[in-house]
Amino acid sequence: MDLLKRFLNYVAYDTQSNSESKTFPSTEKQWVLLKDLLLELKGMGIDASIDEYGYVIGRIPSNINKDIPSLALIAHVDTSPDASGKHVKPRIVEKYDGSSIVLNKEKNIVLDPKKFPNLKDKIGHDLVVTDGTTLLGADDKLGVAQIMTIAEEIQTKKDFKHGEIVIVFTPDEEVGTGTDHIDINKVNADFGFTLDGSKVGEIAFENFNAATAKIRLNGQSVHPGSAKNKLINALDIANEFYGLLPKALKPELTEDYEGFNHLVSQSGTVEHTNMVMIIRNHDRDLFEEQKEKFQLITQFINDKYGYQACECQITDSYFNMKEVLKDHQDKIDMAISAIKSNGLEPIIEPIRGGTDGARLSFMGLPCPNLGTGGYNFHGPYEYASVKEMYQALKIVKTIIEKMVN
Ligand SMILES: [Zn+2]
Repeated sequence: MDLLKRFLNYVAYDTQSNSESKTFPSTEKQWVLLKDLLLELKGMGIDASIDEYGYVIGRIPSNINKDIPSLALIAHVDTSPDASGKHVKPRIVEKYDGSSIVLNKEKNIVLDPKKFPNLKDKIGHDLVVTDGTTLLGADDKLGVAQIMTIAEEIQTKKDFKHGEIVIVFTPDEEVGTGTDHIDINKVNADFGFTLDGSKVGEIAFENFNAATAKIRLNGQSVHPGSAKNKLINALDIANEFYGLLPKALKPELTEDYEGFNHLVSQSGTVEHTNMVMIIRNHDRDLFEEQKEKFQLITQFINDKYGYQACECQITDSYFNMKEVLKDHQDKIDMAISAIKSNGLEPIIEPIRGGTDGARLSFMGLPCPNLGTGGYNFHGPYEYASVKEMYQALKIVKTIIEKMVN
């Protein structure tokens, strides 16, 4: 089946995940697409299975007489909880002319190139857009559709030479738990790509190191009428703590490779105040220094007040996949050359967040991320370029070819 047709078929499935859920996958409805993908793979004659958590794994054996690394292609089936994924009604805008696109006349929802400059280089492209009431689901059904299209081509074109290809579809990426139950031994591949990026030609192999700090401030409450020299207000200590952190390291003041500390929540009383902060940096040493600073401030406050006025617990969440991928530069270079040989300039930018690929890399499956041709993810302004989705498909095919030669 054609890539575009396949993509339009998958976006019709409502696969929204839910961060509040206690089940895995987080929503029942993800099973529907996961099971249909399993049937589709089997229908192509591919050895495929689904496990109790919903992970679909398909394995296409090598058809060459050479020992080359096996390649995993990975995409997630769920869509973001940030916007509805129910009754997605995709529409194709043919040969985009650079003007504003009215997504929904009634509700006056417009896709405006002034607000979304990524539209500026899409003139002449056919674009798949929403009706303004749901997200599109290009994140990541474009990745799913591209992997399925390649799988079908491999199965039908016997002259398509390739090493072992492992297909992996995962649930719950959007709620941050997409790799929680994956059996990496069952995936059993040497190297992989997540097809979960935006612009075609993107290749991402660096992400943040990430930690969460839970800070508890303990005050000493006394009736304010007789508080002189006795009362210690936990709310004040919280402000003191925050004030001692570097002022420049805030998300709103940083970009590119600059790390930050971000106050996510703060609540409390005179007696006890709790703060949650997240710590991010691409550079591992700077990341460790940021965490150290939290401990130094804790120590300073406790020394100053003479009791345990501050408790700080820091937990690492994930690390920069570059730490793993630096030993696989040859495969990154191969992907970069595949992008170039398709006439595109590689876009190499550090991810200011984490990816499932980062977690998989640390599980032993080195896994950079590739662009798919979708934009403005997680909301009704999401769209996909038809030209770019085919270019992205071609890049993955070129990677497979380059691995053989
Ligand atoms: Zn995604």
